[in-house]
Amino acid sequence: MNSFISQDLYKSFESMYKFSEAYAKRTGTYFCLDLSVTAVVIEGLAKHKNIYGAPLCPCRHYDDKAKEVANSYWNCPCVPMRERKECHCMLFLSKENEFASENQQIDFTTLLKFLE
Ligand code: SF4
Repeated sequence: MNSFISQDLYKSFESMYKFSEAYAKRTGTYFCLDLSVTAVVIEGLAKHKNIYGAPLCPCRHYDDKAKEVANSYWNCPCVPMRERKECHCMLFLSKENEFASENQQIDFTTLLKFLE
């Protein structure tokens, strides 16, 4: 386990990592060429999951996060992603996106290094 993050956050991070891989494959989307982007977004989702019980999108400002979670529109995968494959966090990128890699899988240990 990464010594810089709590056990709870580590578990959520792992679960959001697994979700991200499965969802990228299911939607035919790819991770960013810059894996630090991917790591930061997954960490943000994991933190929200820990605190609010749902992976609220970490790339937006909310006045009331608990209210937004209840509203569910921005719980990952958010409505724009589900309806139009639009992920403004750059977690899930279409093949044509200039920042898209060819990867729908990420090595977990490599990803964890970005959190150190
Ligand atoms: Fe998830 Fe949507 Fe945020 Fe992308 S934009 S990380 S799909 S909630």
